[in-house]
Amino acid sequence: MKQIQMVDLKTQYEEIKSEVDRAVIDVIASSAFVNGPDVKAFQSELESYLDVKHVIPCANGTDALQIALMALDLKPGDEVITSDFTFAATVEVVGLLQLKHVLVDVDPDTFNISLEAIEAAITPKTRVIIPVHLFGQAANMEEILALANKHNIHVVEDNAQAIGGSYTFSNGVTKKNGTMGVIGTTSFFPSKNLGCYGDGGAIFTNNDEIAVKIRSIVNHGMGERYHYERLGVNSRLDSIQAAVLRIKLRKLDEYIAKRQAAAQHYNEFFSQIDGVTTPALNPKADHVFHQYTLKIEGLDQFKLQNYLNEQGIPAMIYYPIPLHSQEAYEADRYNDEDFAVTNSLCKQVISLPMHTELDKEQLDYICDHLKKYLSQN
Ligand SMILES: *Cc1c(COP(=O)(O)O)cnc(C)c1O
Repeated sequence: MKQIQMVDLKTQYEEIKSEVDRAVIDVIASSAFVNGPDVKAFQSELESYLDVKHVIPCANGTDALQIALMALDLKPGDEVITSDFTFAATVEVVGLLQLKHVLVDVDPDTFNISLEAIEAAITPKTRVIIPVHLFGQAANMEEILALANKHNIHVVEDNAQAIGGSYTFSNGVTKKNGTMGVIGTTSFFPSKNLGCYGDGGAIFTNNDEIAVKIRSIVNHGMGERYHYERLGVNSRLDSIQAAVLRIKLRKLDEYIAKRQAAAQHYNEFFSQIDGVTTPALNPKADHVFHQYTLKIEGLDQFKLQNYLNEQGIPAMIYYPIPLHSQEAYEADRYNDEDFAVTNSLCKQVISLPMHTELDKEQLDYICDHLKKYLSQN
């Protein structure tokens, strides 16, 4: 059996090696390292794929979030509601911009931000809600957008984990994740569903005015050449990364299908096992399985992780500590009791290997070892 990886980027590369090598060498030969033709081509190819008016590439997914917030003309102290159960980048950028993060609890089944918790947290100072489409499945966008509209609040989707997935509204309209809120953001970190070979990110919007602002912010706040209209940053996607992403974007749907097939294999096995809860599927969302995360009650998941590692099976705890209890983000306004779901999820979740190259032998091996451990513990 081939060695199991959490994410097998090497095997994936081997399959597209000749195409990737040629594209990367072409960029080097052209010396158009920054804002070269591949960046522009990738931008427009991603716009068509997502069916969104504007894609603005940038340096990484964290920058994408920060720039999205910078484009919304917020004032220090304005409130941004987001999930307690996510990667730190989402809340970090809120703090960096002197905005007030308002972390809220999540839904115990989908792990996505809880609509009731958002509703309870809204105040006259709430300006933005950032739903994170966690582990590859869209949050309850229809309800979140309706609530936000009612209160005149912006919705910025953190779509770092769910690119290529989609969401269907009750009127039958289907939209790609990241294109439903006023702004969407993503990351092309190598292990993400659409990953490059270094760092990268992008921002999406259908709003022309906001797109102009974002293009200026990523380029030092410049409008006309050497006229600086606002504070900006330097955040660019390299041409080499764009060249890789163009090749991988053409394969994204195939990659998603492979992840979904692996998830299906896990689901069939683990739904038969007592005490194990397989990922809950929102019927409106098409889950693209950035992570395959089980909930297992009444056991120390770190011991399970160790056991699996000893058997050559990588496994990760995403996320082991709620954000509201992190030293960087804890605040007097947070009461631990308000985060009952996140607190308990952090003690139950374990993410299994999930990528485009898992074969049946590996999947069976992972399933059998996890079952064996559960029967003995
Ligand atoms: C990966 C990730 C980010 C940050 O992306 P980087 O490219 O690593 O900066 C932000 N939010 C979520 C939910 C992520 O998973």
